[in-house]
Amino acid sequence: MTDRKDSGAPETWAASAGRRPEWTRNRQGTGGIVNPPLWRASTILYPTIADMDAANEKQDETLFYGRKGTPTTWALREALTGLEPGAAGTMLFPSGVAALTSAILSVVKPGDHLLIPDSAYDPTTGFCNGLLKRMGIDSQPYDPLLGGDIASLFRPETRLLILESPGSLTFEVQDVPAMAAAARTAGVTTLLDNTWAASHVFKGIPAGCDMVMQALTKYVGGHSDVMMGSVSAVPGHFERLRSATWQLGHCVSADDAALALRGFRTLPLRLARHEQSAMAVATWLKAHPLVHKVLHPAFPDCPGHEIWKRDFSGASGLFGVTLKVGSRADAPRFFDQLHHFGIGFSWGGYESLAIPTSPEKLRRVTRFESPGLSIRLSIGLEDPADLIADLSAALDRMETLA
Ligand SMILES: *Cc1c(COP(=O)(O)O)cnc(C)c1O
Repeated sequence: MTDRKDSGAPETWAASAGRRPEWTRNRQGTGGIVNPPLWRASTILYPTIADMDAANEKQDETLFYGRKGTPTTWALREALTGLEPGAAGTMLFPSGVAALTSAILSVVKPGDHLLIPDSAYDPTTGFCNGLLKRMGIDSQPYDPLLGGDIASLFRPETRLLILESPGSLTFEVQDVPAMAAAARTAGVTTLLDNTWAASHVFKGIPAGCDMVMQALTKYVGGHSDVMMGSVSAVPGHFERLRSATWQLGHCVSADDAALALRGFRTLPLRLARHEQSAMAVATWLKAHPLVHKVLHPAFPDCPGHEIWKRDFSGASGLFGVTLKVGSRADAPRFFDQLHHFGIGFSWGGYESLAIPTSPEKLRRVTRFESPGLSIRLSIGLEDPADLIADLSAALDRMETLA
């Protein structure tokens, strides 16, 4: 039931992943429930000292202590590992940021050098320039479109190459296979932030990455009611990641794991709809006279589009738009009267969201230019015609600025 190779299409796999009989059957083995139950735990009671000693030897496979997990979290971990063929396992974290920072900490030590894309998620950059800097780790931003030429930036002390594809806010698609291969040759560990693709329309471990994280807060959760992150890793890196996670004390509640697992079951279906609706909205925007650019990997003018076509099996529902008119100061005119789009952070939920962005402020070694207001849209599961009507009215309000 849990062997990916025998489980057919992604939708079929999503329906069975993590549902091990021993996590769902009754004690007699005569019947079972569909979902792993919510095991809420701190203390685990041992009948004897011998049982306690035995559990201590296998903390990741038996009920040992609440922080180390229960069948509810094991089921989610196993399901997520199945999304990244070749991974030895997956660890869970109380947020996507905690997943990122823990994966980084599992690798680096004082004096090390790491490389981070100029298009990285802003809190990732913040961690590099904050705590990591204080610990004596040198972070260097790089052009996300370098491809295999990334090797020219490797130094003897380079320990980690961070990848994020497509990039946050600006959606450049990276040549992950070429960059991961260059890193592996040089003995540099790779960590991919794969949140946009949800390890569904792109798989980082088969592409050669050592560790792949995603914010489960986004598409796996899918309903804007859970914060969680995960990191899946190849053998060797997984054991180091697990050790770091346990040392840092990260764990997630059974309740949150069950919510993430519920989202997991419909991930392929929802993503297909997010993709389809986002393409409809983006295509409409692209033809609008006030739109400067649509920043979406499926559009030929998106940097890295050819790589997206080569490596991805599809898209998700998050993309950017730059307008020919307006500025950040004009954002209220565009956003405040939207009906179907909420104004808010995060993305990947069933409901559409829109925010103004300022990517140019985050750039250090590359430039981002927009003649007008920059926007990020997360297209939800509403009818795209309603979303287009909403955006049409918002663009009409910008007309007087032209
Ligand atoms: C949201 C996000 C994260 C962090 O996830 P949280 O659960 O909000 O901490 C990491 N990477 C990317 C690309 C994201 O969009």
